[in-house]
Amino acid sequence: MTPSPTMERYQETAPGCHVDLSDNTNLFGRPPSVARILESASNVDLTRYPSAYSGELKAAIARHVGIDESMVVVGCGSDDVLDSTLRAFGAPDDLLVQLDPSFSMMKVFGGVSGLRVEAIPPGDDLAETIARSTPAITYLCSPNNPTGAVLPLEMMEQIVRESSGIVIIDEAYVEFAGVTSVDLLHKYGNVIITRTMSKAMGLAGCRVGFGIGHPALVSRVEAARGPYKVSTLSERLSIAVLENDAAWVAENVALATATRERFARELEVLGYKPLPSSANFLLVPVANSGQAEADCRAGGIAVRRFESLAGIGDALRVTVGPWPMMERCLDALRAQAS
Ligand code: PMP
Repeated sequence: MTPSPTMERYQETAPGCHVDLSDNTNLFGRPPSVARILESASNVDLTRYPSAYSGELKAAIARHVGIDESMVVVGCGSDDVLDSTLRAFGAPDDLLVQLDPSFSMMKVFGGVSGLRVEAIPPGDDLAETIARSTPAITYLCSPNNPTGAVLPLEMMEQIVRESSGIVIIDEAYVEFAGVTSVDLLHKYGNVIITRTMSKAMGLAGCRVGFGIGHPALVSRVEAARGPYKVSTLSERLSIAVLENDAAWVAENVALATATRERFARELEVLGYKPLPSSANFLLVPVANSGQAEADCRAGGIAVRRFESLAGIGDALRVTVGPWPMMERCLDALRAQAS
């Protein structure tokens, strides 16, 4: 098979940088349960496979979200759940619709599954525009990566209600926004919400994500995903964090959102106009993102660069971490502004 133009290796942004503000992970420390689990990990039997579909983890997620276990699918990061969902519900040449801009990996996953991927700029008549194009799969991301904007719940419900296909709502950053679409799961059978242990939960290295939805949808995603995707240790660590570290997560979310607002104010003093964000990152429009990224890199800071985003232009996406990291980033951006 000849690889399609969308099948490219993911470009890592951070190598060689002391401060990595490029990937929206939790930079405020590690969840307290991690040390405890790793200290007792010498008795974990790694000669055997983990459970095929991570039943104990699914039960912990169900308790965490307040839904039935039959509504949960887990994966190797929410990337895996998203990719499997496209495989489960999209046939080659089917249409996948997403907003422009939104999470860049969907274009890659869609391309790998042979889907046609269309990106629609947000507007007042978004729900009608999507309904008219009758996509097999619609992908919504709230808060959206890279803008940080939450999508209005009524609009998402209208899209779900009017869609004949599947609607994915990606809530990778839900903890920072505090608004969720989970209620839709009880009203509609065509929606899957994805979440991750990689961001607010502080476990990006474990590679665990999950999808929640009607049991009939979830079991199709599981079938497309295949068995044994979450390692024994990752399952244990995720369960421990979900069950014991809610206060730690809430504390860090509060810290990240307060730091985000402080960082936004300081950027405005420098003349930047960061987009309002409900996530743990800010999108900062700049005249030339290549130059701005290089300036940050010269200061030892990795950020994510975007070129010619629809309706925005060039921009940097900056993850919010402890204030000394943000100060270093401000120093680098000060050089740009002057
Ligand atoms: N969705 C969104 C919107 C993201 O930003 C990311 C991470 N960049 C993911 C999904 C995938 O996260 P993970 O695979 O670590 O769960």
